[in-house]
Amino acid sequence: MLGADPANSESQTLTRTLFGKMESEHAAVGVGRYDEARLLYSSAMFGSRAAPSEERRTIHLGLDLFVEPGTPIHAPLDGTVHLLAENTAELDYGPLVILRHATSGEENNNEGEEFFTLYGHLTREALKELEPGQTISQGEVFARVGVMHENGGWPPHLHLQIILDLLDRGAQFPGVARASERSVWTSLSPDPNLLLGIPPEKIPEREPSAEETIVHRRKLLAPNLSVSYQKPLKIVHGWRQYLYDDTGRAFLDVYNNVPLVGHSHPRVVRAAQEQLALLNTNTRYLHNNILRYAERLAALMPKPLQVCFFVNSGSEANELALRLARTYTRSEDVIVLEHAYHGHTNTLIDISPYKFDGPGGAGKKPWVHVAPLADDYRGLYRRGESKLGAQYAQHVGEICKELQTGGNRPTFIAETLPSVGGQIVFPQDYLTETYQCVRGAGGVCIADEVQVGFGRLGTHFWGFETQNVVPDMVVLGKPIGNGFPLAAVVTTREIAEAFNNGMEFFSTFGGNPVACAVGLAVLDVLQDEQLQGNSLRVGRLWIAALRDLQRKYAVLGDVRGSGLFLGLDLVLSRETREPAPLHASYIVNRLRDRGILAGTDGPHHNVIKLRPPLIFSEGDAASFCAAFEAILAEDPAQPLSQAQSKRG
Ligand code: PMP
Repeated sequence: MLGADPANSESQTLTRTLFGKMESEHAAVGVGRYDEARLLYSSAMFGSRAAPSEERRTIHLGLDLFVEPGTPIHAPLDGTVHLLAENTAELDYGPLVILRHATSGEENNNEGEEFFTLYGHLTREALKELEPGQTISQGEVFARVGVMHENGGWPPHLHLQIILDLLDRGAQFPGVARASERSVWTSLSPDPNLLLGIPPEKIPEREPSAEETIVHRRKLLAPNLSVSYQKPLKIVHGWRQYLYDDTGRAFLDVYNNVPLVGHSHPRVVRAAQEQLALLNTNTRYLHNNILRYAERLAALMPKPLQVCFFVNSGSEANELALRLARTYTRSEDVIVLEHAYHGHTNTLIDISPYKFDGPGGAGKKPWVHVAPLADDYRGLYRRGESKLGAQYAQHVGEICKELQTGGNRPTFIAETLPSVGGQIVFPQDYLTETYQCVRGAGGVCIADEVQVGFGRLGTHFWGFETQNVVPDMVVLGKPIGNGFPLAAVVTTREIAEAFNNGMEFFSTFGGNPVACAVGLAVLDVLQDEQLQGNSLRVGRLWIAALRDLQRKYAVLGDVRGSGLFLGLDLVLSRETREPAPLHASYIVNRLRDRGILAGTDGPHHNVIKLRPPLIFSEGDAASFCAAFEAILAEDPAQPLSQAQSKRG
């Protein structure tokens, strides 16, 4: 009910939401579940909401009953008043009563076992009328539910908890526990519904555990739908640069470039919700959202790129760009770079060496021409040599000449900074020279900006700008809708006119009013929060800190990138540059253990990719580096030579 925005859990808002819902549902009582992971507990005593390193208390050990203040509380069992207290800290119990009970003892012919019930968030008044030791009979009213200001700042409710052993903690017995201690605390505090008897159908079902979800997923989904990490994560909640698992644990997200402006950004969420509540339909009706958005996108592009096509995914956009190119050139030949990935459709698998040359791949089609990846760290020509860009471009030039001789015009497609290829930064002039060759042969150039567009690079808004080129088509996806399905091809009037060959272009969902409202909100946030500038500033500090680590740890062969698009190339040896995929995998899994989510990429799976939301802060970069350095110092992270010499 509360969404991801912590502002929704602020006392007044929370109260309005809960009691509003109860009113609309004609419910006398609102129930807050037992054994539920919650992010509500953000005061100092529970640990800050955002810090991923320390485990916070999240698991609710009682059951909450939201009712009007002053509602009388009847004892569910006979008992005696064991303890009266007032825990005044913010978000604590406020005035509370603990009653002592005993089991009947008939079974074993003994006096019965003692246990307790705890009642939190009461009125102060009621406490004054009670005395420790006083007997309370089942059904007797012994307290009342307090108002917000005297009950720890919570919406009016009773926190009811059963406690089998107080462990001498008295009023300090926790009502919320750490997830890692969940089974211990829930065994000491069983489900209070044992006393209340609320019919199970009135209490929302517990979410399945991560383990249950894995089993369920295996049954229902395809086996090659992969899951990240050796210990898979069940993520249930995202906020800014954090993802939260089903136990309420926070993870710093340093590699998902889709939530460009942060997970669950309220402006993006609101834009989608408001438009969805009004209208969502296709582009065969006139609507202004698509035009507003097309105008904004075109304004961000160089002059000749003024015509927008909207679709729903990067794959769909690349597929469409290829159709545009082939209609325009009347040739089917495509030049791609080694290790490239452009999407999951049939044709895109055919132009993605990462797939067709990989496991399960069917090899290269005759109309596909693969040029070497201009990787100046482990490619054909390396940093330090002269005219690197021209040397790499010459390979594309040769393919172009061959195609031209055969009467064919090439389509060149490349990520402007290849991400799947290993977070590669092209040498200077590479695309300038390459585009010249392609155009010289009557071809067209497609810039796949699915990963790097929208200010991520810090220095420029688009990747192609870093190479001083203007593509014939730009393909946009992933971050464009901050996670909402939206993608685009932006091209020239001339290419769009050539595509208008009598066949209608239509995508049912492409360019719908909701998607365009979301796209507009993303651009607004980027601008208003000056996120490209943040990317540049934080990226520079981060890369400098990572290069400091590179000087200390031999496994860090190369640190490269721009803004918040960085790659850490791990090697077994600095001399041979032999890739270290096991080290990369070890480090990424250890980062996950420490609450930081990173991933690997590159043809050898040895490059750690860092591509966080652009709201990533200097503090986040420092947290990453501290955790990263601690892991680099661990034995399994040592390069082979050192590990061997250590072992003697
Ligand atoms: N192009 C590139 C460079 C990509 O990385 C991807 C996805 N990883 C795509 C296209 C395909 O996008 P989607 O998964 O949205 O279809």
